[in-house]
Amino acid sequence: MSSVFIIEDEHQIRELATRALADAGHVVWSESTAMAGLQGVIENAPDVVVLDLGLPDLDGSELLRMLRAVSDVPVIIATARDDESEIIRLLDAGADEYVVKPYSGSQLEARIRALLRRTEAAGSANTLEIGGVKIDLRGRVAELDGQRIDLNRKEFDLLTFLVARAGEVVSRSEIYAEVWRQPYGGGDKTIDVHLSWLRRKLGETAAEPRYLHTVRGVGVKIVDPR
Ligand code: CA
Repeated sequence: MSSVFIIEDEHQIRELATRALADAGHVVWSESTAMAGLQGVIENAPDVVVLDLGLPDLDGSELLRMLRAVSDVPVIIATARDDESEIIRLLDAGADEYVVKPYSGSQLEARIRALLRRTEAAGSANTLEIGGVKIDLRGRVAELDGQRIDLNRKEFDLLTFLVARAGEVVSRSEIYAEVWRQPYGGGDKTIDVHLSWLRRKLGETAAEPRYLHTVRGVGVKIVDPR
């Protein structure tokens, strides 16, 4: 059994989705505005959020951005805009799945089940470690020598990706594809900036690397410095 938070302003859709999900054994909460929804998600910490994009007080994509600043809860966007580029943009912005309206209750429930399976599979390997770096994947917390490191979302994803591939040189385009889910435009400094932040948080510099080693013209790898 899992808990689902529906943010949807159309009464009928909200009722239909709530009933279908409750019948399938989920605990369901709902709100009809973005701001009440945001507060509800923070207070209830649901397993999944279903987010309508057309809300009366705020565009759903804006709410997604706000949600992502405070929570890693899996989000399914519900959209009547069957616009591929818009859907891709939202998946890049942190949505995990989408349904196109009008959707049926069983379709929504199937998406939720699939999403929870993926989330659980990702959480089944609970920790990753290299040297003094320990990553709790479920709690999205990283430690260095027993001290918690304060990482933003992308730094955490980047560190996790590198540690999962420890000892291997990973190219910038792979990092872009896997962590940013975007094609790499050469010359872009995003990765370098994040790497340098990560270095600082791991207590090292590019000149005196311990964990993070840049291989010029190829990519970067993380190693156990001990
Ligand atoms: Ca709506």
